[in-house]
Order: sequence, then C-alpha cells, then structure tokens
Amino acid sequence: MTFKDLKLSDKVLAAIDAAGYTTPTPIQAQAIPFALEGRDVVGIAQTGTGKTASFVLPLLNMLEQGRARARMPRSLILEPTRELAAQVAEAFETLGSQHKLTVALLIGGVSFDDQEKKLERGADILIATPGRLLDHFGRGKLLMNAVDYLVIDEADRMLDMGFIPDIERICKLLPPSRQTLFFSATMPPEIQKLTDQFLKNPEQVRVSAPATAAKNITQKLKFSPADSKTKRHVLRELMRSEVSTIQNAIIFCNRKRDVAVLHKSLVKHGFNAGALHGDLDQRQRTATLEAFRKGEITYLAASDVAARGLDIPEVSHVFNFDVPISPEDYVHRIGRTGRAGRDGYAAMIVTPKEMKGVRAIENLCKAKIEWIDGEPSTENLAATDFSERRERSRRGERGGAGRGRSKEAAVATTEPRETAEVRPIRQRAEPAGEVRSAPAAATAERPARNRRNGDGSSVSRYHRELLPPATSAPVVGLGDHVPAFLMRPVRVAS
Ligand code: AMP
Repeated sequence: MTFKDLKLSDKVLAAIDAAGYTTPTPIQAQAIPFALEGRDVVGIAQTGTGKTASFVLPLLNMLEQGRARARMPRSLILEPTRELAAQVAEAFETLGSQHKLTVALLIGGVSFDDQEKKLERGADILIATPGRLLDHFGRGKLLMNAVDYLVIDEADRMLDMGFIPDIERICKLLPPSRQTLFFSATMPPEIQKLTDQFLKNPEQVRVSAPATAAKNITQKLKFSPADSKTKRHVLRELMRSEVSTIQNAIIFCNRKRDVAVLHKSLVKHGFNAGALHGDLDQRQRTATLEAFRKGEITYLAASDVAARGLDIPEVSHVFNFDVPISPEDYVHRIGRTGRAGRDGYAAMIVTPKEMKGVRAIENLCKAKIEWIDGEPSTENLAATDFSERRERSRRGERGGAGRGRSKEAAVATTEPRETAEVRPIRQRAEPAGEVRSAPAAATAERPARNRRNGDGSSVSRYHRELLPPATSAPVVGLGDHVPAFLMRPVRVAS
C-alpha cells in the first residue's frame, strides 16, 4: 500500500514526500481511511508505530477547507504532557509544510499572554494539555463550539496522570457533532468506559496486541543483590559492557528523586548524562531533550514522563534502573528503543524484592525474559533478601521507603564515593547514647526529640532507649529491658 492509496490530498502527499515517508505504517494504513470518511476511531497503538501521523495527516486533509475564527479553534488535540504536545506541534510543522494552517500550543509553564494572542488570531489546530486548556476556557479566552475534530492521544497515560475528569469535562464542552480520534496503547476498563461514553460507533484499529513489546528488541534482566548504590554499580557495569554498541540510552527510574540521584552519580563517574523528570521546569526539560536529540548528551536518566510518546529517534538502548510499578510501563519504556524497525536493546536491573514485578511483566508480555549471568536461584534470592533486611535493621530502618528520611536521600548525603566505607554502620555499632565520633557527639548534645544518626537516618528518643546495647551476645527475650507497662501493679480480686 502507498500513501496515494489512502486518498490523501495532493498537498498532504507532497508533505509526506518531503518528510521522506514512503510507505504508510500499519496504524496509518488502517486509521487514515476511517478518519477521512468522518468516522470516530479508536486506535490501539503504542508510540513508535507512526500513530502521530495517523491523526495529523487526515486532520491536515480535512482542515484544508474553511478557516478559523478568533478564539474558536477548529480542531483540538489533547496530550498528557507538555513534551508530547510540543512534539505533535512539530509534526504539524513538518507534515503541514504545504498548508497555511495556524497551530496554537497551550501548555503549562509558558506565559498565558502569548497563548491568548494566538487564540485571538484564530487557530485551525489547537494542541493542549487538559489543565491549561481548561484554564484558558475558565478565563473566557476560548470558545469550544467550533471544534469539529477532537483527538485524544495517549489516553491511558491521561488515566495514569489523573486527567480523566478533565477529559470528561472537555468532551462535554464540545459540539456533539464533532469527529473523535482516540489513541491509547492499552485499553483498561476506565478507558473503554470513556470511549463508550464519548465516541459514536467508533471503528477500532489495533496494530499489535495491547502491551506487547516489539520483537526486534533484545530484552535482558540483570540481578542486583541490593538497592541504590549496588544498583548504580550494576548499571555502570551494564553500560560499560554495551559501550561498543550504545549510541544513546535512556535510563528509567520509578521516582523523580532517584532520577536526580542517579544523574549526579553518572556525571560523577564520567558519563555524559542529563536528567528528565517532572520537577524540572519546562525550559530545562526542553533544553535537555534537545541536547539528547542532537547527541550532545548520550545518557538520559528519566522518569516515566519521558516514557511515552516522546519522539527521540534512534535510541539504541533502554536501561530500567527499577522494575516499573505497572507492567504496562515496561512496554512503554522499552518502546523507546527499536523504533521504526531498527534493532533495540533493553536491560532491566532487578533486586530480590522486584522479582514479583518481573513476573507481572512476563505474564503481560507472555514471554520469558533472559537473565544476564543466569536467573538468580531461590537460595540466592532468599540470602540477599535476608542480608538486606538484616542490614536495614542494623541501620535502624523499618521496611519501606516511605517513613522518615528516604533511603535515596540518605544515599545522596552519605555517598561521596561509590566505594563508600561502612562509616554509618560503624557509628551505629556503638550504643546510641555513647557515640563519641565528632558529628554524632554533636548530635548527642542536641535536646531535639529526634536525633540524627551518623548515616542521616533518625531514631526517636523513645526508640533509642529501646535499642539494645551493641554487644555481640545474643539477646534473649526482652533482654534486660522490662517495658514500663509490665511493671505496673496489678489489682487482684480478693
Ligand atoms: P510516532 O509513533 O508517531 O511517535 O512515530 C515514530 C517515528 O516514526 C517518528 O519519528 C515519525 O517521524 C516516524 N514515521 C511516522 N510515519 C512514518 C512512515 N510512514 N514512514 C517512516 N517513518 C515514519
């Protein structure tokens, strides 16, 4: 099949030619004819399949007739993130090179004034994130009743980000006669409900089974016996082992703060790395992405903000520093590599407590992922899990990272060198009240209720008093300590 067979206009075909596309991708071949017929479409496709052009091309075609009036956009494209919105605007720039259509981009982190001016001039195509769109609508700068075409892109991402109520509100503001093109990589029940409610008898097109990873991606797992520092060491080893083939790589972490810590650590170890996560302002994010695109940065430590939709061609490697919380995110993350039929490589670091997540991914993808150096044995997992728990209890940490100071934050301050000496543990080995090392002695004088230990974690006075003295003799029962409630006199009935 050729683009000509899709009955696109001459102008659109000329732009496709100029962009260098020769053959429509499967999602384009399936979705474009329905869109041109005026049908609502549900497209189940992940990024990297050419889905952006599958709505940009028919929109350009359909918008050729007519023109926009002030504050009354003719089409609306909703994107979950600013980056995706900016990327779609770029696609319109490339593929709309033969048209004189006006594009307005409404995203957060950019001045309202400039955006209002664009709306005032009239926009044929309005690309927006839901929050900023509703802000403009609330200010009375925007009328939605001339929107003939609505595109909802990355709907499952919108769901993850809590945008569904906003989407519902926006859909209710639009004329019911509009045409809707709806795209999602997966179809969880909430998304299905949304399409049932707001689309009219849609045609469903699907380019691959939901949440399956592309076959041209080599996937590997690498065991790490412990979190944080050990994981960073394992990551560096992985990166070095692939150095001859790495062109550029994205390294995904589950949490924003881990991205920041990892970025710092990579730079310190001489890797040419940048960071991308939701806490950075728009200017920083755009600059980092641009540098990564141009090859000025080779490694990009990123949170899932970067996982979906960002069009960064030719990412040769993806490293998962953490097993993602949702198995669908794994598919999205590794979808950054092996795009447009190229070979890709994705390796994931797994700690004992992340094994469950690996099984969820394998179940979802219906495939086993191969381990580098073989699968860890049950004994191996149990041993590392036990030693990790023992280590944590020696450090006075209780399970989970949610309480008190996070483990990562502690690492950030106690890890000037990756070969870190065991200073924090050594300090802990002394009875808390009798610490004589300089920093800890200073803390001991503080009257505060919660005192900091040498490793940065804190132990309340109450808990410190309950800590056993550091002797090597095993403690039997409650040891010498008798809790106060056991010493209370008991009234005995005569
Ligand atoms: P997307 O899935 O929309 O993010 O597109 C992934 C990449 O494929 C982008 O770099 C597009 O420019 C490119 N692309 C889209 N359609 C085609 C096509 N028909 N032929 C070649 N490349 C394409």
